[in-house]
Amino acid sequence: MTRRAYTITLIPGDGIGQEVVPAAERLLRETGLPLEMHYAEAGWDTFQKVGKSVPDETLERVKASDATLAGAFTSPSGSQKVPGFQGAIRYLRRTLDLFANLRPTKSRPIPGSMKNVDMLMVRENTQGLYVEQERRYGDVAIADCVITKGASERIAKVALKEAQRRRRKLAVIHKANVLPLTTGLFLETALEAAKAFPEVETYDIIVDAAAMKLVRDPQSFDVLVTTNLFGDILSDLMAGLVGGLGLAPSANIGERTAIFEPVHGSAPDIAGKGVANPAATFLTAAMMLDYLGEAATAKRIDRAVDTVLEEGPRTADLGGKADTEEFTDAVIEAFRSLA
Ligand code: ATP
Ligand code: MG
Repeated sequence: MTRRAYTITLIPGDGIGQEVVPAAERLLRETGLPLEMHYAEAGWDTFQKVGKSVPDETLERVKASDATLAGAFTSPSGSQKVPGFQGAIRYLRRTLDLFANLRPTKSRPIPGSMKNVDMLMVRENTQGLYVEQERRYGDVAIADCVITKGASERIAKVALKEAQRRRRKLAVIHKANVLPLTTGLFLETALEAAKAFPEVETYDIIVDAAAMKLVRDPQSFDVLVTTNLFGDILSDLMAGLVGGLGLAPSANIGERTAIFEPVHGSAPDIAGKGVANPAATFLTAAMMLDYLGEAATAKRIDRAVDTVLEEGPRTADLGGKADTEEFTDAVIEAFRSLA
């Protein structure tokens, strides 16, 4: 029986996205999986060419795909004031209702990485304080924080399912002692959803205590779930524990499709030179394969990246001399030998 091919959209985007996504495509082709990959355009350069950061054609492609791998999107300073401009990823998240933002944090064999850390942040990506409803009355400013039972329940379910596949521990992070109505509703709903997952050990922890514990004892965490703002802050803190944002992958997941992107930006300072580190994009591609149900290949990519990070060659950002192509060759070589 032949397997149905997965339809994948590749959006390099801006800056080094144009270098790291084609590198990931090479690695993905190496997997031998039935992947039907198509390139599409989006980002700041696209906006300047056609007046839209995400052309309709790209939106339709992404909608029709099983998954999308994106490189990086620039929002140059001042661009938020350019009439008609909306950052590509924000537009896609909203239009496609990609409500779950997943950021795994894992120890890597690089300087500055703590050992034995392996956790996953599941962040609610559509509400909380990020509904962007702010008002100002003279010297008083007010921001709305919106929490719904429905959105809390669906994000909790994503986190519980992830916990089920991992070490079966879920921390629900909140501030219900001070904000019992908003973050309290989130907490109550998540704990209620957890009742259907008795094999997952679910516990709650107040966000400030969680910040402290993440720094002092990150090994004790498995999956974390929280509201938008707390998730934003804590996921960067988590990346800092394992050597920074340089190798961090992320996923934006909705009911129908998902977009995967490395956490780093478009790195305009090194763009076009062929020296960008594609490791984060490789780990992002692995996350995408895992989402598609190809867990074994995803693990193999993860291990191949770790092998090269440990043994070299390394790219300049990690103190080495390899360019994008040499690093990619080495990861492909390592991937082959892990067969
Ligand atoms: P953007 O506006 O797209 O967010 P930025 O100017 O904030 O871009 P980042 O991409 O966030 O830049 O990167 C910050 C620093 O890290 C830059 O010096 C950049 O060169 C470096 N950097 C980021 N990603 C990579 C990478 N994949 N390989 C090598 N260096 C990187
Ligand atoms: Mg940036």
